Amino acid sequence: MNYETVVGLEVHVELSTKSKIFCGCTTEFGGEPNTHVCPVCTGMPGSLPVMNKGVVEFAIRAGIALNCDITRYNKFDRKNYFYPDLPKAYQVSQLYLPICQNGKVEIEVDGEKKYIGIHEIHMEEDAGKLIHDPWDDCTLVDYNRCGVPLLEIVSEPDFRSADEVIAYLTKLRDIMMYLGVSDCKMQEGSMRADVNVSVRPIGQKEFGTRSEMKNMNSFKAIYRAINFEAKRQIEILEEGGKVIQETRRWDENKDASFAMRSKENAQDYRYFPEPDLLPIEISDEWINDVKNNLPELPEAKRARYISEFGLTEYDAGVITSAKQLAYLFEDTTAICKKPKEACNLIMGELMRLLSETSTLPEDIKIDPKKVADLINLIIDGKINRNVGKEVFEEIFRNDVEPVKYVEEKGLLMLNDDSLVSDTIDKVIADNTKGVEDFKGGNEKAFGFLVGQTMKALKGKANPQAVNKILKEKLQKL
Ligand code: ADP
Ligand code: MG
Ligand code: ZN
Repeated sequence: MNYETVVGLEVHVELSTKSKIFCGCTTEFGGEPNTHVCPVCTGMPGSLPVMNKGVVEFAIRAGIALNCDITRYNKFDRKNYFYPDLPKAYQVSQLYLPICQNGKVEIEVDGEKKYIGIHEIHMEEDAGKLIHDPWDDCTLVDYNRCGVPLLEIVSEPDFRSADEVIAYLTKLRDIMMYLGVSDCKMQEGSMRADVNVSVRPIGQKEFGTRSEMKNMNSFKAIYRAINFEAKRQIEILEEGGKVIQETRRWDENKDASFAMRSKENAQDYRYFPEPDLLPIEISDEWINDVKNNLPELPEAKRARYISEFGLTEYDAGVITSAKQLAYLFEDTTAICKKPKEACNLIMGELMRLLSETSTLPEDIKIDPKKVADLINLIIDGKINRNVGKEVFEEIFRNDVEPVKYVEEKGLLMLNDDSLVSDTIDKVIADNTKGVEDFKGGNEKAFGFLVGQTMKALKGKANPQAVNKILKEKLQKL
C-alpha cells in the first residue's frame, strides 16, 4: 500500500519585546541564572500580572502578516501543570479565544505553490529552564526565561512532506524577523516547533493517529525526524499494528525517536479563565494602525528589488534571505543610488567574508554609509575595483573609513599616463620572453604583461589605461 505523510506544526516564537509579558523584567537571553526575575515571574503568592501592550501589538502584526482574523475580544486562560520549570504551576495562555485565527501562508516546493492554513496564533508565557546535572545527580532551575512572551502559531495538518515543512518554517522565520517581532535564533531557542506526524493510506479521508515531538529547534533535526517517524508508523501499520497517540523525543545522536509519554489532552490541563487579567479588546483603529505601519515583507522586497533596481531574481532572493542583508543593500543604495554596485559587493565580497569568518547575517555590523562612500570611490575612478575589494574587507573586519583609509594607505588610482607609459617600457624591456610569446599569437601573454605592469604600480593603476597603452606599444614593436 502507498502512504501519505501528514504533518501539523505548533511553532513557538519568543518575542523580542524589551520586557516580559506580565512584569518589567528583561527578556534578554542568558545572564546569571535567576537574575532576570521578580515576584511576578517567579509566581510569588499575592503578586499580580500586568499585560505588556507590546506583546499584543506584536501578535497583531504577526496575525496580519499571516493573513489571520484578529479576535477583537480575546482572553487568557490558565493551563495547569506541575513541573518545576513553571513556579506558578500554571501557564498563562489562550485556549478559548486566541488573538488570531484562520490565517494562511503560501509556500513553494519545487515550483509548486500551496497554502498552509494557520489555525490560530495565541499569546502565552514561556517557562524556565531545567538543567539536569548528572555529576551531582541533581536538577537546577533557571527562571530567567520564565514569563518571556511567546506566540504559538498553530498550523492546520496541511503538510504532506518534510520539504513542505522546511519551506514553511523558513518563510515563517523570515516573516517574523522582518516584522521585528522575534530574532528567531533557533540555537537560542527563540523559535522552536512541536512536530505532529501521522500517516494514512493514500485515498483515505480520515487522518491517522499522530505522534508529537516537542521543542525541536533545528531544521535538520525536524526534517529527519519527520521522515523517521513516517517510516516508523508505516511499518507499524504494515505489520497490522496500531499507532498510539503519544509524545516522542527525537534523539539527534541516535537519529531516531523514542516514546516519552502518552499524549495529554486539554482536560488533563484543567484549563480555566485567567482571573487576574482583563480580557483584551482591540479596536479597528489599532488594527489599521498596525496594518499601515507593517514593515515590508521579504516577498514584497524581492519583487521591488527586481522592478525598481533591476536586480536578477536570484540576487534579489539571496539579498532578502536575511533582513540585515536587505537593509544593508537598501540603505547603501539610498545613499549612493548605485543598486547594481551595492548588490555586487554584497553578493560577492560580503558573502565570501561571511563564509570565511563563519559570521551569521544577523551579526553583520557594517555602516551602509561606508559602503556607499566606497562605491563612490570606485565609480568616480578614485580607486580601481581590486583595491575596492580590499577596502571592503577592511570595512567588514575593522570598520575603517574608506576615504581616509585609501588616502592613508596611498591606494588612490594612478591616473598618470606618462608614469604608466614609462612603467610599460620597463616591463617590455624586462620580459622579452612574454613579448615574444605575444607576438607569436599567445593571448595569455598579454594578460601576463598587464599583470607585471599592475604589480610594478602596486595594483593602483587604472586597468583601462594599462590595457590601452600596452596594446599600442606592442603593436608598434
Ligand atoms: P494539541 O493542542 O492537543 O496538541 P491540536 O488538535 O490543537 O492538539 O493539534 C495540534 C497540532 O497537531 C496542530 O498543528 C494540528 O495541525 C496537528 N495535527 C492534528 N491532527 C493531526 C494528525 N492526524 N496528523 C498530523 N498532525 C495533526
Ligand atoms: Mg500540541
Ligand atoms: Zn519578572
